[in-house]
Amino acid sequence: MGLSEITERLRRAEASAGRAEGSVKLIAISKVQPNERVEAVLEQGHRLFGENKVQEAEDKWPAFRERYPGTEVHLVGPLQSNKTRRAMALFDAIHSLDRMKLANAIARIAQEEGACPDLFVQVNTGEEEQKAGIVPDETDSFIAECRALDLPVVGLMCIPPVDEAPSLHFSLLAKLAERNGLEGLSMGMSDDFEEAVSFGATHVRVGSALFGARDYG
Ligand SMILES: *Cc1c(COP(=O)(O)O)cnc(C)c1O
Repeated sequence: MGLSEITERLRRAEASAGRAEGSVKLIAISKVQPNERVEAVLEQGHRLFGENKVQEAEDKWPAFRERYPGTEVHLVGPLQSNKTRRAMALFDAIHSLDRMKLANAIARIAQEEGACPDLFVQVNTGEEEQKAGIVPDETDSFIAECRALDLPVVGLMCIPPVDEAPSLHFSLLAKLAERNGLEGLSMGMSDDFEEAVSFGATHVRVGSALFGARDYG
């Protein structure tokens, strides 16, 4: 579809939701995409990307960042504790903080390094067995524990179940964020980012609609 169309749709969604123009950030999810496609979007001036694997991002982003200064890369996929240090060195934000073990590892490394990426707590709004994230009932206490560790939690993130209307999940995430005084809402993907904006998304994560289908072959 291309960057200009997606950006235009995003601006229209902001306007119809009564949101300020440019208030929603477009994270271009570049996982698995060939470098030419990523580079084309960089050439058009976009500077915010998302990846779901540490290794893949390490292979791809240091070189791009050198050539396109000011580029931010966010981790949106699950993070194994043993890759925490590498992830913190590479990413500007981590959207998948989903357990205390990881929170403790991040806090320890942040102390050592004197720096920490912005953090989003991933909430398993659909309470799906196979999905990562804190269940809604435990979200308030998890956020409180993270704050006690001085972690820079800036928002919440969710991936709604594929077979349910996303709106219920978006509104639940917005409610949980609001009652915890969190501004950031990372929600909405290719098929539903406009709807996410109407529920208050601050960061939408768009991959295939922007770059084309991912080829896992
Ligand atoms: C892959 C991925 C996306 C982008 O999905 P599309 O449907 O291609 O827009 C968004 N968020 C996360 C966490 C992802 O892993």
